[in-house]
Amino acid sequence: MLQQTQVARVVEYYPRFLARFPTLERLARARPGRVREAWDGLGYYRRAANLQQLARTVVTDRGGKIPHDLVELRELPGIGRYTAGAVASFAYEQVTPCVDTNVARVIRRAFHPRLGLTAKDHERLWATATTLLPRSGKAAWAFNQAIMELGAIVCTARVAKCRECPVREECRTGRRRE
Ligand code: SF4
Repeated sequence: MLQQTQVARVVEYYPRFLARFPTLERLARARPGRVREAWDGLGYYRRAANLQQLARTVVTDRGGKIPHDLVELRELPGIGRYTAGAVASFAYEQVTPCVDTNVARVIRRAFHPRLGLTAKDHERLWATATTLLPRSGKAAWAFNQAIMELGAIVCTARVAKCRECPVREECRTGRRRE
């Protein structure tokens, strides 16, 4: 649900969806029309179809358990690099980065203010995110949560609130604004 959609919008849908489809088995068995109906208003409806397809694949081929391995996660419908990282880190406490739009913006401003928007530049952001990660799963989990929040609340797309930023001293953009 959080692919392309902000948390504030998802919180309305998430508990309702879970109440209707509390397990992967129930989601896998549901009529596609019912899944689409539960998603109604959230947009990007392809996600609902992917999610149900994912549930079916996991139930049928993987004994009902979502894998924790990044490669296996990315074989599932609708799971790209970011989502695989988010599931591996937040659900399984794997030491792996998850670079969404917010995280990419923070890393860019803090370490690579001159980077462009090419695929190679994006790779660089992932590489830096990997370097920054703590080595324990729990700490990596906290780090990924924290940097996402920083991008959502302080270092936003609209404005970088450098004066109130906790990492200002370490940030190339923030230091220039002193
Ligand atoms: S100091 Fe400014 S630019 Fe750097 S991470 Fe914080 S808010 Fe963003």
